[in-house]
Amino acid sequence: MYDIVIIGGGPAGSAAAVYAARKQMKVVLITEFFGGQSVVSDDIQNWIGEKSISGIELAKKLENHVRSFEKIEIVTGDKINGISKIDKGFLVVSEGGKKFETKTVLMTLGAHRKKLGILGEDKFNGKGVAYCATCDAPLFTGKEVVVVGGGNAGLESVVDLIPYAYKIYLIVRSDSLKGDKIMQEAVLSNKKVTVIYTADSKEIKGNGFVEKFIYIDKKDNQEKELSVQGVFVEIGSVPSSGLVKDLVDLNERGEIIVDHKTQRSSLTGIWVAGDVGDGLYKQNNISAGDAVKAVLNIDQYLNKGKGV
Ligand SMILES: Cc1cc2nc3c(=O)[nH]c(=O)nc-3n(C[C@H](O)[C@H](O)[C@H](O)COP(=O)(O)OP(=O)(O)OC[C@H]3O[C@@H](n4cnc5c(N)ncnc54)[C@H](O)[C@@H]3O)c2cc1C
Repeated sequence: MYDIVIIGGGPAGSAAAVYAARKQMKVVLITEFFGGQSVVSDDIQNWIGEKSISGIELAKKLENHVRSFEKIEIVTGDKINGISKIDKGFLVVSEGGKKFETKTVLMTLGAHRKKLGILGEDKFNGKGVAYCATCDAPLFTGKEVVVVGGGNAGLESVVDLIPYAYKIYLIVRSDSLKGDKIMQEAVLSNKKVTVIYTADSKEIKGNGFVEKFIYIDKKDNQEKELSVQGVFVEIGSVPSSGLVKDLVDLNERGEIIVDHKTQRSSLTGIWVAGDVGDGLYKQNNISAGDAVKAVLNIDQYLNKGKGV
């Protein structure tokens, strides 16, 4: 029986594993991969202690730190797909058929990109449809592309694409941009960029690869099309809470409701840290800090049976 099963290997899961090892807990960390969402970022400038670090480098540092504690059991490349309550805690089961009995579980499942849900999106995924401009912008050198999303993610994608793409159409549902002013200026002042406001994405068409992006112009309710070779979907992210939706309370956005003093969920024995929780701000440092709080509280729970 483990003291703690940590699910996820982003900044939250990694920080939790280090703290759990130092608290002498019997711990296993299970993750599809180390590093979490910002692994795709070229340049992270606010991870405390590093002026600038790439997502891949950050992932390696997190993994190395976790692996430096021999007592931490690590399972990578597998995914947890079941958690159930048992007599003295929980049974956690992976897709690969591994089973872990544990007194407590820490959910650091993070979040994943939201899809548009329009015709052609899945069909052309990887064939012109992309979800990470930082990763894929060079593939669109000299091409015409659409970026969907008027928030910071959309604006950052446009900025990532500017050095490569020939022409960028930014599709925005409302009549204004939502992202930071400095990003808005960078986008609006560039001649390669055309912003199309009050536009609802309708369909992606092509023949093997993306050729057309269809949208409804809400000003005249007319269907319009753009000839493009790429569509970047940047409309936010969804918490990866599906695994526990029947076990713990979620809010209307699907985030796990957390007691922010202790990081406890609504079910005794399950703690939460990072982007999968209902915290207002989603950042690497915050996720790591949440995880530290959670493990310290789990330690009290295990040792005194009560916590704070
Ligand atoms: C492109 C991009 C750039 C960003 N840049 C910054 C930045 O510069 N600075 C900053 O502070 N923040 C940045 N963020 C936000 C930051 O990445 C997140 O706040 C942070 O990664 C959240 O950490 P987490 O540990 O909660 O979850 P995640 O990083 O999402 O990690 C969750 C991990 O859990 C694993 N997992 C999920 N479900 C399962 C399962 N069922 N079984 C096993 N493993 C599972 C996932 O594979 C993943 O490895 C950025 C985000 C994106 C998308």
